[in-house]
Amino acid sequence: MTTASVLIVYTGGTIGMVRDPRSGVMRPMDLARLEEQVPELQAMGVRLESISFERPLDSSDLGPEHWSRIAAIIGEHYQRFEGFVVLHGSDTMAYTASALSFLLEGLGKPVVLTGSQLPIGSIRTDARENLITAIEIASARDEFGRPMVPEVSVYFEYRLYRGNRTVKVHAERFQAFRSPNWPELAEAGVHIRYDRSAILPHRDRPFKVHDRIDTGVGVMRLFPGIRSTWVEGLLGSDGLQAVVMTSFGSGNGPTERRFLEALRRARERGITIINVTQCDGGRVEQGRYTTSASFNELGIVPGADLTVEAALTKCMFLLGQGHRGEALSERLKNPIAGELTLA
Ligand code: ASP
Repeated sequence: MTTASVLIVYTGGTIGMVRDPRSGVMRPMDLARLEEQVPELQAMGVRLESISFERPLDSSDLGPEHWSRIAAIIGEHYQRFEGFVVLHGSDTMAYTASALSFLLEGLGKPVVLTGSQLPIGSIRTDARENLITAIEIASARDEFGRPMVPEVSVYFEYRLYRGNRTVKVHAERFQAFRSPNWPELAEAGVHIRYDRSAILPHRDRPFKVHDRIDTGVGVMRLFPGIRSTWVEGLLGSDGLQAVVMTSFGSGNGPTERRFLEALRRARERGITIINVTQCDGGRVEQGRYTTSASFNELGIVPGADLTVEAALTKCMFLLGQGHRGEALSERLKNPIAGELTLA
C-alpha cells in the first residue's frame, strides 16, 4: 500500500501558538517547523504537506469568506491527498465545520477539523494528541482501501464528531465539544474505534466545491418577556432573507398576538423562518403544544434536530445557491450532509 498523504490547512487559533523565546509573548507558529514542535509526526508514516493562511486568525475573526477559502484549498488539492486536517480555533469551529459540510458537495475524503484549548508549545497542551490523531483519522482506510470517514468531522479530546452536529460546550475543559443529537463517529483510546453506523456512507456523487454564501441571515433567540417591538425591528432589518428562531423546548414560543403578527408580516415579506430548539439536545416538533401550533400555520420551517450553527450556515449556503421561499423551506427540511435526522 502506498504512503497516505494528508494536507494540513492552518487557519489560526490557539493550537498554532508558541511562546516567542525572546519576548515571552504568544504568536502563531511557523508551520514549516511543525515537526519540530511535534516530532512524533515523522514516525507516523504519513506524507504531510501544509498550507497556512497568510495571517493566521483567531476563529472569532473567521467567517464566510474564510469558509470559502478553506473549501477552495481542499478543492484545489483534492486529488493529491487522501485526507485533510484543518487546524482552527475552537471558538467558531462548529460553524466552519457545518459550513464546509455544505460547501464540499459529494465529499468522499476525510476533512478533520481540530484545534486545542492550550497552545502547541505549552507543556500540558492538548494540541499534540489532537493533531496526531486527527492526521491518523484523515489517513485511515477501511478494508476495501476506502477512506474510513468520508465527511467533514471535528476531532477533539479523544472523540470524533460529525462536524455539522457539533457545538462548543466548554470554554476551558479539554473536552470542549459535544454532538448532542448524533453519536460520536469514533473514540480514540488504545485503538481508534470507529462507529461505522454513525459515519456517512461512501457516495458516488461527483465532488463539487461551492463558494457562494449569502449572509442575509439572523438568529433570534426567544426569551420570556421578549418585546414584540424588538422582534418587529429585527425582522424588519435591511437585507434579511432568513431567520433562525431559537425557541423553547420542542419548538415553542409565546402566543401573544403582536409577536405572532410580527412573524406573519415577515413571512408575507418573503422572509424564511426556521425554528430550532434552545435545548442542548432533542428536536422541534411544531404543533405538539398550542404554543407552537401557530408556527405551522405561518409556514415556519420546523428545524428538526439541527444545531443553531448548522441551521445558520445551511441558510447562508442555500441562499447563496439562490434558493428562496418554498424551495428554500423544502431544502432546509431535508438533510444535505447528515446535519439533521428526519422524523
Ligand atoms: N480564541 C481561540 C480561537 O477560537 C480559542 C481556541 O483556539 O481554542 O481562535
